[in-house]
Amino acid sequence: MNANIIKRNELLAQKVIKGLQSRHMNGYYAADKEAALKLALSLIPEGSSVGMGGAASVEEIGLKEAMIRGNYRFIDRDAMDRREAYLMMYDCDFFLAGANALTEDGVIVNLDGRGNRVSMIAYGPRKVLIIAGMNKVCPDVDSAVRRVRTTAAPINAQRFQMNTPCLKTGSCLDCKSPDSICCDLLLVRGSMDAERIHVILVGESLGF
Ligand code: SF4
Repeated sequence: MNANIIKRNELLAQKVIKGLQSRHMNGYYAADKEAALKLALSLIPEGSSVGMGGAASVEEIGLKEAMIRGNYRFIDRDAMDRREAYLMMYDCDFFLAGANALTEDGVIVNLDGRGNRVSMIAYGPRKVLIIAGMNKVCPDVDSAVRRVRTTAAPINAQRFQMNTPCLKTGSCLDCKSPDSICCDLLLVRGSMDAERIHVILVGESLGF
């Protein structure tokens, strides 16, 4: 990667980490996917029960695979009844997630169709570990929500082949389709439990 991009990511990540800390959350910086995986594994004790939704960034650094292959109690939503899996995840030790966007001052923004992921980020799992590429960092809440609505959501609609206007146009038409994946918007602007939310910022582009 270009040295200027690396330097900018390192500097900006420090600002985001300070923002997270000011909101009683924990931030870390990993220069690349390999470092991010190592850091994530150092935060999750073996034997932990672990859940996750469809988090592309978690998969891209190899963390999902490591949870499946390693000594963890991984709750695999694809291998069991989805509702049963989600209800188990509410009581898990670690919930792994991506972020649709983050602000430079540490607000985490996510948007769900069914709300399972955002509800578990808000409450339930004992700890939440978020993996976010530096491509997710936006200047402020307005631009972060705009990113979520106009970039992440239309790409997710393609990913899940939902019957929504953005599937055909590639841009958000602010639909009220029954298949809309844009139902529940969560802005995490702080945590009352300072040990619960951990964010690993990765100096690469991850997810979408
Ligand atoms: S068109 Fe509908 S589903 Fe697609 S991004 Fe906009 S609100 Fe979400």
